[in-house]
Amino acid sequence: MTTLTAAHRIHGALLGLAAGDALGATLEFQTPDEIRRRHGVHTEIIGGGPFGWRPGQGTDDTDLTVAVARAYAGGYRLTAVAEHFLRWYHGRPRDIGGMTAASLRLLADGAEPLAAGAAATAAAQGGGAGNGSLMRALPTGLARAEPGRCAREAAEISAVTHADPRCVHACVAYTAIVSALVDGAPPAAALRTGRDAATPVRDDEIAAALATPEATPLTDLPTTGYVVHSLAVAVWALQQPASLEELLIGVVNRGDDADTTGAIVGGLLGARDGAGAVPERWARRLEYAPEIADLAAALHSVRGQDPRADSPRT
Ligand SMILES: [Mg+2]
Repeated sequence: MTTLTAAHRIHGALLGLAAGDALGATLEFQTPDEIRRRHGVHTEIIGGGPFGWRPGQGTDDTDLTVAVARAYAGGYRLTAVAEHFLRWYHGRPRDIGGMTAASLRLLADGAEPLAAGAAATAAAQGGGAGNGSLMRALPTGLARAEPGRCAREAAEISAVTHADPRCVHACVAYTAIVSALVDGAPPAAALRTGRDAATPVRDDEIAAALATPEATPLTDLPTTGYVVHSLAVAVWALQQPASLEELLIGVVNRGDDADTTGAIVGGLLGARDGAGAVPERWARRLEYAPEIADLAAALHSVRGQDPRADSPRT
């Protein structure tokens, strides 16, 4: 067995996210029975779906992940993340989540990034715990090796659009898991790191999602847009011995929020298994593949300039 380098894992994570998004985009909002009738088992990146995607086109999940990655490549500031989000928003994306649309509208009207997310989250009255920030959280875990900094930036990037504690804590745990995987931690150890990162939160639903048993049947795990559901599927997938290809096919064929669930799962599995685990027939379809190669190199370089602190920060 060859040892994967951090560079391969970072590249694999971004490719895995883009592949999960593009594979799942065809199946968004369908039930497993509808998928079986129309596709048998859906295994190829063919586009289509409710928004008529080109094969390999990024949907909002990959678009916004690339936006966050670009902000890291240019020198991280939260205002730079917000500017990249707004550039995307002004390009009139064909698919945009409710919380993201509400927050970016406020941002476009001049609100400060965290004020926009807080106002939109308050207006949602507890209904704002979608997976729209978890789907684009990945770059922080790739760019940051120091746990405290990783957690702070993951939290504030979530809060630009999703300030609900469940969303924030899901992003903190997910990026901690990703960062540990990039450092070469085995899945079980990476999951412990994620649980520890989320511990101060005492959020029962997130804690339960992070403790999703390996033996759970995939058919017992919903693939809705609820952030707790998406995190649970990702934690489940990380523990399976199967390949990235098999797992992504299994997850997106559950339908519902198939593209976002595929993106969140694909990011973790790509960090686990490296760029070589993303099937070539998928990777060559991805419109973002060339930029992803450049961004992966940039994030690897940023990570190298982020030494771990000797003592925990408060
Ligand atoms: Mg999408």
